[in-house]
Amino acid sequence: MHNVSSVVRSVTVRVPAKVNLQLSVGPLRVDGYHEIVSVFHAVNVYDEVIAADGVPGSGITLNMEGAGSEYLSNSEDNLVWRAATALAQYADVALDVELQVKKKIPLSGGMAGGSADAAAALVACDALWRIGLGREELDVLAARLGADVTFALHGGTAIGTGRGERLTPALISGQYHWVFAVSDEGLSTPAVYAECDRLREGREVQAPTVAEDLMAALRRGDSVAVGKAMRNDLQVASISLRPQLELVLETGLSFGALGGIVSGSGPTCAFLARDEEQALDIAAALSGSGMCSSVLHATGPAHGARVVDSGTSGSILSPR
Ligand code: ATP
Repeated sequence: MHNVSSVVRSVTVRVPAKVNLQLSVGPLRVDGYHEIVSVFHAVNVYDEVIAADGVPGSGITLNMEGAGSEYLSNSEDNLVWRAATALAQYADVALDVELQVKKKIPLSGGMAGGSADAAAALVACDALWRIGLGREELDVLAARLGADVTFALHGGTAIGTGRGERLTPALISGQYHWVFAVSDEGLSTPAVYAECDRLREGREVQAPTVAEDLMAALRRGDSVAVGKAMRNDLQVASISLRPQLELVLETGLSFGALGGIVSGSGPTCAFLARDEEQALDIAAALSGSGMCSSVLHATGPAHGARVVDSGTSGSILSPR
C-alpha cells in the first residue's frame, strides 16, 4: 500500500564529452598516476542526468539508458552513484534520489563519459537538494571522484595539469567542427597507460609540457594550424593495443580532415574539419568505409555540466 506524500521535483543536467587536443604524459608518479598536461576541449555530444526526489528512506535508485549502458552497474560502482553519495555525505543531506542517465557519450571511448556523468550528478543533486555549493567546493568533490570530472563541470577549452584536475581556462577563438569515429569495443584507460609505460621502458620520460604552437593556433582560431598541432602521447599505446586505429586515422585524413588524433585513451578517433560541410562529408565517408561502428558529428567548445530543466510532476508514493 502506498500513500501520496508530495509532488516529485526533478532536475535535468546536460554534460559534454571531451576530446584532448593535446595529451602530454609525463613519468609515472609514486601514487601510480602520471603527471599530465592536457588541453581539454568540450564538444556538444551530451549525456543527460536527471535527479528526482526519491521515496524518503529509499536511498538511491539508478537507471541508465543509451550508449553502452547495458555494460554498467546500477549500484556503487557507477560514478553517478558515487557522486550522489559523496555530495550527500559532504552536505549532510538525506540520500533519497532517483537518478536516470541518458548516455550518448561512447562508453570507454576516451571521451570521459563516466566523468561527465559524475559531474552531471553532482550538479543535478546539488540543485535538487538545494545545497547551493560554490564552484570551489564542487571542484574539490569532482577531483576526488576522478581526474576528468572537474573539466566536465567547467567545459569550454582548458589546460589541465597534475592528473588533469587542475584547470586553467584557455583563450581560444572560433568554433571547431569535429567528426568522431566510434568503436563498439572500448579500450580500458588503465590498460592504455600500462601499455604506454611498457613501450617507454628503459627510456627517460620528460616532464609534460603545453604545446605552444597549439595554444597560439587556438588563440588565432586557426583550425588548419590546430589540426597540425594536435598530439596525444597515448596514441601509440592505443594503436599498439588496437592496430586497426592507424587505418581509421589514415582514412579520416585521406578524406581531407585537417587533423586526426586518438581521443584520450581511445579507441574513438577525432577528426577536425574545416567547416560543417566538410565535417558532414568526412562523417559520411567514414560511415561508408566500414572502419568504425558509428560516427558522431559535433562542434566545440561546448558548455560544462548545466541544469537544462527543472520542475515538478506526479507524486512520490511512500509505503504506508
Ligand atoms: P576517460 O576518457 O576519462 O579515460 P573513457 O571515456 O575512456 O574515460 P568512460 O566511458 O568514462 O571511459 O568509462 C570509464 C570506466 O568508468 C568504465 O570502465 C566504466 O565501467 C566506468 N564507469 C562507471 N560509471 C560510469 C558511467 N556512468 N558511465 C560510463 N562509465 C562508467
